[in-house]
Amino acid sequence: MDERPGYRFRCRRSGNCCARPEGMVRIEAEDTRRIAAHLGLGEAAFRSRYLAASGDRLVEGLGGRCPFLEDGREARCTVYPVRPERCRSWPFWPELREGAALGAAQRLCPGISLDPSREER
Ligand code: SF4
Repeated sequence: MDERPGYRFRCRRSGNCCARPEGMVRIEAEDTRRIAAHLGLGEAAFRSRYLAASGDRLVEGLGGRCPFLEDGREARCTVYPVRPERCRSWPFWPELREGAALGAAQRLCPGISLDPSREER
């Protein structure tokens, strides 16, 4: 479990944060290097296969899903050990610290708890 002022997070493996139809996964140069190496791809091959034309986000898979999200009894990130920094820091993004954005994130993600006194199971 991860905890910051205002809310807590424990991943429930819903996969919701990786499968938002209008979502995008921002990716940095270091993410590209790390994931490409993990997949045994050169960076150019990784970029051409997995990055959008803008070069700063992953392509969208079917229905806007992340191309690395695998379904099953529990959703699974197939690059979890080397996932992008943006994914590692979910849901502690500056834009989600409070207000409507945090409420929307909580409706999306069952792992976010706004009540710091609630015992996580
Ligand atoms: S890289 Fe992994 S953690 Fe990040 S959105 Fe895709 S499936 Fe989810």
